Amino acid sequence: MERSVRESIAGGCRIGIMGGTFNPIHYGHLVAAETARVEFALDKVLFIPTGIPPHKVHHQIANSDLRFAMVEMSIRDNENFIASRIEIDREGPSYTYDTLKALHLLFPEQELFFITGSDALRDILSWREAEGIIGISKIIGASRPGYEIGGFLGELFDRYPYAQNRIFEMEIPALAISSTDIRKRIWNNKSIRYLLPEEVRRFIIENNIYISK
Ligand code: ATP
Repeated sequence: MERSVRESIAGGCRIGIMGGTFNPIHYGHLVAAETARVEFALDKVLFIPTGIPPHKVHHQIANSDLRFAMVEMSIRDNENFIASRIEIDREGPSYTYDTLKALHLLFPEQELFFITGSDALRDILSWREAEGIIGISKIIGASRPGYEIGGFLGELFDRYPYAQNRIFEMEIPALAISSTDIRKRIWNNKSIRYLLPEEVRRFIIENNIYISK
């Protein structure tokens, strides 16, 4: 991991981890990270764009450096947010468990909180090394329109009592924004203004990202 990122994490601090393809980053990601920071008293939130997402190889994915640049420009004005290339610079597919294990080794005294949307949370048991993930890191599931959690966590805790006190639901202002929808809007010449930071919108246009399907 980058030295600058390592040095910005103090001993004993609470670290949020916002993983994603960020293809591109949008306000849904930023609101989830900021709400988690405040509600879970996180000292820092690490934004970690995926290298090769194992489940999204079929999507049109912008090059890692472009996705990373868009993340960086979106979080620049928040001193508690940091972007890391740890997954981008790793060879092969990015698995959450490998990343969390690496972070746990780097930051053994810090508490880790993996932030995810309710869509991904509902699939948690199919995540690779789900049990290991829950052991290393607490999980924060942000509400997302169209993916209600309902009684899911209650049933999960009945089956896996160890997950209790390790997985939390977090209500955030509902933003029905997705990267897929933003890419579709670009293809269809629809506006993407106000769905993501203006600097990112301009960057996408200037660099002709997401023009071809
Ligand atoms: P795509 O549409 O390309 O699948 P996405 O918009 O779901 O992308 P990702 O980069 O895959 O974005 O998401 C990273 C994380 O942010 C995931 O855990 C996802 O559930 C969460 N997330 C994304 N959009 C929202 C949103 N609008 N509200 C809450 N959580 C979100």
